[in-house]
Amino acid sequence: MGILSNLISEPDPDFRCSVCGGAEFVEGPRGGDAVNFACTECWARYNDLWPFRIDRHGFVEPHERHAFEGAYTPRKQAS
Ligand SMILES: [Zn+2]
Repeated sequence: MGILSNLISEPDPDFRCSVCGGAEFVEGPRGGDAVNFACTECWARYNDLWPFRIDRHGFVEPHERHAFEGAYTPRKQAS
């Protein structure tokens, strides 16, 4: 709560994969407010820690890909 509760998340359709430039993502497991997602082209793995930042964490291994489904639009981060 506090100041962050005044922020409303917005999608960021301009987010691109930093590895391959891909623009399509799939949603993975959530942990609290953090959302894992992955690039559908190269399977780079990201963690959307809105409103702070989006981190990249390697790649989703083939045996983990079943947990990622459904289109995901990364959230625009507060600046
Ligand atoms: Zn990619």
